[in-house]
Amino acid sequence: MKEEGIAETKILDILKQSLRDDMTYTSGKIVGSMCTEPTSSARLLYSKYLEKNLGDPGLFPATARLESEAIASVGGLLNYPQTQGSIVSGGTEANIMALWSARNGANVEEPEAIVPASAHHSLNKAADMLRVKLISIPTDEKGRVQASKVRAAITPNTIMIAGIAGTTELGAIDPIDELSEMAISHDVHLHVDASFGGFVIPFLKDLGYPADDFDFKLSGVSSMSIDPHKMGMAPVPAGMILFRSPEMLDRVDVQASYLAGGEYPKPSVLGTRPGAAAIVVWATMQMLGRQGYRKIVKRCMDLTNLLYGNALKMENVKPVQEPTLNILGLRPLKESPREFSGKLRERGWAVSTFPKHLRTCIMPHIRKRHILEFCSELERLDKKEELIIKPHISKIRYSLL
Ligand code: PLP
Repeated sequence: MKEEGIAETKILDILKQSLRDDMTYTSGKIVGSMCTEPTSSARLLYSKYLEKNLGDPGLFPATARLESEAIASVGGLLNYPQTQGSIVSGGTEANIMALWSARNGANVEEPEAIVPASAHHSLNKAADMLRVKLISIPTDEKGRVQASKVRAAITPNTIMIAGIAGTTELGAIDPIDELSEMAISHDVHLHVDASFGGFVIPFLKDLGYPADDFDFKLSGVSSMSIDPHKMGMAPVPAGMILFRSPEMLDRVDVQASYLAGGEYPKPSVLGTRPGAAAIVVWATMQMLGRQGYRKIVKRCMDLTNLLYGNALKMENVKPVQEPTLNILGLRPLKESPREFSGKLRERGWAVSTFPKHLRTCIMPHIRKRHILEFCSELERLDKKEELIIKPHISKIRYSLL
């Protein structure tokens, strides 16, 4: 740290220069992230309420009320408005809390949790922290966990079964109805990780897409993760953990009695928590309504299907499967996924790389022209055309819809 500070105008200049290498969502070249460009309203609201701290809710009771309203609202979306939960930093924290609650609720010396092979690595982190053994179950050819193998893996040590509604690698939805029946018959906590799919599947159902039940409507579901900062259109960081009963949330309640506001915070892994995140989650849902989310989900699905249709005709990549959500896996046919994504990155595109495929995630910042440009790039790669580096900075901002 230097002795003398630098003026704000100078800092702005320095930041403009030093952050030039960051990619932007508005360029349309980030086709592999589950996050998206914050809306202009979100930017405005977030910056207005930066000082709110939900780690000390007695100082900010009105913000805490909005958090509770946002949780009830998402609970309603997932068929359980009376749910109890917290706004957390994202899917990772939500998954940690689910396993934490399940472990504390079971009196088992050597606890085990059964998770699909497609589970997000946050469950590995959670298991490591909580000293729970993970039993990984293979998925079928559609990327869904094999329910019969889950059933066979249940033992007296099983404290939790996890199902994924929108897998990280392919957007597949596990057979949550079957997992729910198992959870009931074995009296085991079923956690549904809908971090990505939670803000997509209900709207796909509204739009008439086929989608099985995946939420609290199924009585075996004990907890759910759902991320407003993915398809919920809220800025980072904003996740949610929702439980079926207050007791499940209380199991992870570590009380802090010293707080200046005199109130206990909602259970979470973090202490100090951004109240602005809760306010913006609340406001974004109010502003969009179901209708707004439906429009966004429809546009993302239409573009995903456009990419799918084009990729079917390509010679260097093949879609892994028809998309269920706005996630499409592409399998390179002539080189490894790592080599292929490396070439795309050299050309300014960011996709996610999995061992056997690339993952694209067609988020709300993606426009039709971006999909068409991406398809042309994939085809150019096949023809080994010269690399033309174009700047990926674009000034276009978009509003909620
Ligand atoms: N769960 C699923 C299914 C995910 O896809 C992800 C992230 O990609 C997470 C959890 C973790 O979410 P976060 O990165 O917000 O912690």
